[in-house]
Amino acid sequence: MSFAAPPLTNSASPQRTPTIGERQPERHQIVAERGQREVFCGLTSIVWLHRKIQDAFFLVVGSRTCAHLLQSAAGVMIFAEPRFATAVIGERDLAGLADANDELDAVVDRLLARRPDIKLLFLVGSCPSEVIKLDLSRAAQRLSVKHAPSVRVLNYSGSGIETTFTEGEDGCLAALATDAPARDEAAPRLLVVGALADVVEDQFRRTFAELGLTDVDFLPARQAQSMPALGPGTRFLLAQPFLTETARVLTNRGCDHVPAPFPLGAEGTLDWFAAGAAALGADVGAVREALSRRADRARASLQAAREQLSGKRVFFFPDSQLELPIARFLHNELGMELVEVGTPYLNRAQHGAELERLPQGTRITEGQNVDVQLERCRAATPDIVVCGLGLANPLEAEGVTTKWSIELVFTPIHGFEQAADLAGLFTRPLVRRARLEV
Ligand code: SF4
Repeated sequence: MSFAAPPLTNSASPQRTPTIGERQPERHQIVAERGQREVFCGLTSIVWLHRKIQDAFFLVVGSRTCAHLLQSAAGVMIFAEPRFATAVIGERDLAGLADANDELDAVVDRLLARRPDIKLLFLVGSCPSEVIKLDLSRAAQRLSVKHAPSVRVLNYSGSGIETTFTEGEDGCLAALATDAPARDEAAPRLLVVGALADVVEDQFRRTFAELGLTDVDFLPARQAQSMPALGPGTRFLLAQPFLTETARVLTNRGCDHVPAPFPLGAEGTLDWFAAGAAALGADVGAVREALSRRADRARASLQAAREQLSGKRVFFFPDSQLELPIARFLHNELGMELVEVGTPYLNRAQHGAELERLPQGTRITEGQNVDVQLERCRAATPDIVVCGLGLANPLEAEGVTTKWSIELVFTPIHGFEQAADLAGLFTRPLVRRARLEV
């Protein structure tokens, strides 16, 4: 089946005010699309966040649908003592809200009595109207007072009306950043922001230490008690590209954003470390020299993947907000051709360094009109499509090779050592398809 590709309408860019980091937006075709979208909600983030913060518990205040989503997203993981659950709120009118608050308090009381290992409890909001009527921020304050000092209770929204799947992490980290203690020293301290696999966090910590930089913290920390203090002097370096709200909270608390590309692939990782080191006053030339061997090794580890992927055409549907840095990596380090790079939101202050590194004229779409985009994708006949699970199955059935974007957040892909693993996420579907065709 083939479709004519409808023209893109350039409706977004002209009236935007350029922000920090947006140096050459005119280098690309950046267009906005609005319409039906196909993405998971922010509750999905709980699947990786609960592994990261080891003494936290995520209590979704939601419906049976939310419980099913979590169960299927995390379905393969069976825990003796799980660290997430859903408090199912049934239909009720405004008069029943007092009861709903009492019920929620009783659920939390029972949970915390049974699980003294929980030090940080997140109440996670969802879409049903019964939940929207509940004031979870007040509930969190009330429960924090009640269970102080052994448990902190915070809240954020994972609702599908407000969030795409990685924005759940943004909401969670924004809540942590709001709650973090104040730092009163003015000496610069680097804060790496974004949930990273523990193995990656350990590598990053070691690399900074080898560069002589030990004034480095990570948000989120692995334990509730270890969340870093924040304030003027804190320079924050984003490790994930979907943390708009968290960055806003950090800025409001007097922390300074360190503009950098994201630490994906040899190029992004080298420039990310250089930016972080410069923020602590280190000599950037010396840092680049010290890391050059590691960057060379990462580039060498990509050789086999480059042979397979060079010249192949990739199309990104908007899903995770990781699309821009991954596209930059696939083009600059593996020689892939970028047909279209979709992203749910384009935060130009945070993605300025990525926009600069993408090849001139890259077609970037912000937002989604899924049917129109599907037509463009089919017409373009790319070699591989990066998309959410909802689109992957039908596209695969049409013979299109796909990569699930959710794997990009479940798999450790950041840093020099993981560059080849990141490339492998794109070679494997092509190899599998080739085998099927043989
Ligand atoms: Fe729950 Fe809304 Fe997510 Fe559905 S989209 S699982 S109702 S939060």
